[in-house]
Amino acid sequence: MECIFCKIANKEIKSDIVYEDELLVAFKDIKPVAPTHVLIIPKKHIDGVQALKEEDEALVGKMIVKAKEIADQLGLKEGYRLVFNIGEHGGQTINHIHLHVIGGRPLMWPPG
Ligand code: 5GP
Ligand code: ZN
Repeated sequence: MECIFCKIANKEIKSDIVYEDELLVAFKDIKPVAPTHVLIIPKKHIDGVQALKEEDEALVGKMIVKAKEIADQLGLKEGYRLVFNIGEHGGQTINHIHLHVIGGRPLMWPPG
């Protein structure tokens, strides 16, 4: 299996895990773009938002609720951003769906 995030999920590759349950893993991004930068992934391999099926609805819902909980735990009281990058124009570099939780400084809008 070649997928780097599948390998992180099953501990073949080390990461700084901040949360794990039977469905999800959350870990620190190796190249943080802000003081807090966590990635939330399902243990199940899905290529990205572009590959979601109706049956994935609950799983993606859990990713978002967990993102909120992690943001609360990490004290991101002033706000934060949740990001799914999708495809080439969206800046997706890893084809295993992941939700970025980014915070700890004011973030610019619109994105570059
Ligand atoms: P994307 O650009 O696909 O939305 O985000 C992929 C993210 O994964 C990037 O922010 C990148 O820094 C992070 N990343 C890539 N490889 C690794 C890795 O091996 N470990 C960790 N913790 N993060 C990674
Ligand atoms: Zn994968």
